[in-house]
Amino acid sequence: MADTSFPDDAILVVADITADGALASNVPSLIGAAASVGSPVVLIVAAPGAGAALAAAAGEAGAADVVVVESDRVGAVLSAPVVDALVATADLVTPSVVVVANSIEGRDVAARFAARTRAALAVDAVGLARDDEGVVAQHSVYGGSFNVTSAATFGTLVVTLRQGAVDARAESVTPRIHARGVAATGAPAALIAGVEGAVVASARPELRGAAKVVAGGRGLGSAEKFVLVEQLADALGAAIGASRAAVDAGYIPYAHQVGQTGVSVSPQLYVALGISGAIQHRAGMQTAKTIVAINKDGDAPIFEIADFGIVGDVFTVVPQLVAALEAKKS
Ligand code: FAD
Repeated sequence: MADTSFPDDAILVVADITADGALASNVPSLIGAAASVGSPVVLIVAAPGAGAALAAAAGEAGAADVVVVESDRVGAVLSAPVVDALVATADLVTPSVVVVANSIEGRDVAARFAARTRAALAVDAVGLARDDEGVVAQHSVYGGSFNVTSAATFGTLVVTLRQGAVDARAESVTPRIHARGVAATGAPAALIAGVEGAVVASARPELRGAAKVVAGGRGLGSAEKFVLVEQLADALGAAIGASRAAVDAGYIPYAHQVGQTGVSVSPQLYVALGISGAIQHRAGMQTAKTIVAINKDGDAPIFEIADFGIVGDVFTVVPQLVAALEAKKS
C-alpha cells in the first residue's frame, strides 16, 4: 500500500554512496534535476549506523524526504542490497520516475530494477522535463546531432542521468527521515571479496564529472608535447581529456579518451586543442556548456560546435593563454 506521507509528485532519487561511505558528488545534481519536475525523495542504502549523516547530507542537497535503509550487506554484496531497497521503496513512494546516476553502480542498479519491475528504462539522459502527460527524459544522441525526449507509455520511468549534465541545484532543507528495514530477496548477486582504492597519482580533477576539461588531439604531435595540455589544464584547474587519435598514438592513457568509445563528459568548459572534431569525439563532449577550440585549420569541424574558436597553432596560442592565466592569478 502507498505510504501517504510521501508527496504525490514524488521523484525517487537513488543516491550513489562511495566506497568510503560518503554521498557521491553527483547526488546534488540528481536531486536538482528531480526538483525541477517534482518532489525529490532520496533513497539511501547504507551500512548500519551510517544512514543519519548521509540523510543530513542529502537534505543539504535539497531532499525534503529521505528513505534510509541500513543493511549489513552493504559493502559485502554488489548492487543487490540497493535494488532490494529500491523495489521496496518504490512500492511505498509510488514515484512516476526513478532517477539514478549514469555511473557504473547506477547503471547496474537501474537495469536490475527495471528488469525486476518491468519498468521502462531511459539511459544516459542529460535532463528531465515535464510535458502534458508527465515527466520525460531528454537525451543528446548520435554525437549530439539530435535532442530526443523519451517517456514511459505505462508505469514508472527509470532514468539514468549523465554526470555533470544538470546544473540545477535544490535549496537545502532539513529532511524528514523515513527509516526502513528491507529483507534481502535472495536475488542472485556478486559478493565483494575486497575493495582496494586505486592510487590516484594526480591532483587534477577526475575526468568524469569534472567542471572543466582541457583535451588534446593528434595536433599535439607527441607525448612530450602533450605536456602543453597539462599546463593549460593546471592553469585552469581542469581535468585532462584526449581524442582517440592522441590515445592511439600513445600521448596519454586510454582512461582520458573522450568520445563514443571513451568517456562522456558534460563540463562547464571544454577546451579542445588540436582536435578535428570527428563525430565520434563530439559524441562524448557536445553537451559541454561552453566549448573552446584551438586548431590551425579554420575548416575543422570542431569549430561548428565551438562557442569560441581560435584559428592558430596550439604551440603559439596555448603558452600565451597559460601565461595570461598565471598573470591573472598572481
Ligand atoms: P585528427 O582528426 O587527425 O585531427 C587533428 C587536428 O589537429 C586537425 O584538425 C589539425 O588541423 C589540428 N592540428 C594539427 N597540428 C596543429 C597545431 N600545431 N595547432 C593547432 N591545431 C593543429 N575519436 C575520439 O576522439 N573518441 C572516441 O571515443 C572515438 N571513438 C571512435 C569509434 C569508432 C567506431 C571509430 C570508427 C572512430 C572513433 N574515433 C574516436 C576516432 C575519430 O573518428 C577520429 O579519428 C579522432 O577523433 C581524431 O582525433 P584528432 O581530432 O585528435 O585527430
